[in-house]
Amino acid sequence: MNDELKRLDPDQIRVINESVALGEELVSNHFKMSVNEWLRLRYDIKTLANLAGEEIIHGPFAQVIRYEGKRPDRQLGSATYDFYKICLQDHAILDALKGMPELALSPFSLYIITHELIHIVRFCKFLQRFDASPEERMREEARVHAATHEILSAAPVTEMAPVFKFYDEWRRPIDRLN
Ligand SMILES: [Zn+2]
Repeated sequence: MNDELKRLDPDQIRVINESVALGEELVSNHFKMSVNEWLRLRYDIKTLANLAGEEIIHGPFAQVIRYEGKRPDRQLGSATYDFYKICLQDHAILDALKGMPELALSPFSLYIITHELIHIVRFCKFLQRFDASPEERMREEARVHAATHEILSAAPVTEMAPVFKFYDEWRRPIDRLN
């Protein structure tokens, strides 16, 4: 069981909910999406308490899993749709906060959530394939980190600097990948 993994407490979950609301607003503005367009994105954001065993990983702060949904009232293949689940890894987030006191949960979780929402928008707009090659995934990571930085640089949030510093290496040229 995963009961021994540390979980975000109710106060921290409230901070996460605020980050979700702000992240959604910032990302939809960035991509100039209307409310209706945004609602057509099918995703959910869950913390550890609501993750199944295989959705829990060790290391990353979050992962996006794609599920195939089926509309119950139709039988044709076209009745399926992609559904994305952003799985926040409480234990990894809490470990990072513990190890780096300069990071605050509010800006840190806003970065994580904004980043994952950008991934989802890019999948849904077919700007990126979910099953891309490892090299392409690395390039996409750099692109998504750059977009996250751009969005959050212009956002009215405090204590962002230590978070940007933490993710800094993602915004350097990635010629080391060859
Ligand atoms: Zn990413």
